[in-house]
Amino acid sequence: MNKPFFEQQSLKFGCTGCARCCIAGNDYFVFLSSDDAERIRGYLDLSVGWFRRRYLVKTVDGDPVLAYRDDGRCVFLQNDNRCRIYPVRPLQCKTYPFWPEVTSSKTAWQREAGRCEGINHGPGVPVATIRRMLKACMQAPA
Ligand code: SF4
Ligand code: SF4
Repeated sequence: MNKPFFEQQSLKFGCTGCARCCIAGNDYFVFLSSDDAERIRGYLDLSVGWFRRRYLVKTVDGDPVLAYRDDGRCVFLQNDNRCRIYPVRPLQCKTYPFWPEVTSSKTAWQREAGRCEGINHGPGVPVATIRRMLKACMQAPA
């Protein structure tokens, strides 16, 4: 069996903090598991109702996602492009760009590089790190 794409060549990544991955639109949203939501709610010390009303919206399929402003910026993205809830950010944010669909092929990886300027820059990422991210994505609770 062929090795996965990310083991056939070293993947480089270095986040520049450009925040493009924090901007919703074109069917891109920050999805939340119930664990993600509860962790963030606790960090902000808010009631369940207030947190839901203020920080969550639903997609047309009914999935909860982080609310975003008119320009698509995540509700937690500050003016300086830093994340207000960085220590407890959703798994989707923690694992980006090492998602199964992005690391599945060179084509997918290169396509994502059109959105994320950190892809193909910076240091080579150890395979073990990529595997850990992928495992976290695959085991993410609903
Ligand atoms: S798009 Fe890429 S480089 Fe920009 S903040 Fe997100 S991970 Fe970092
Ligand atoms: S939660 Fe933080 S890291 Fe995730 S999209 Fe919002 S601002 Fe970006």
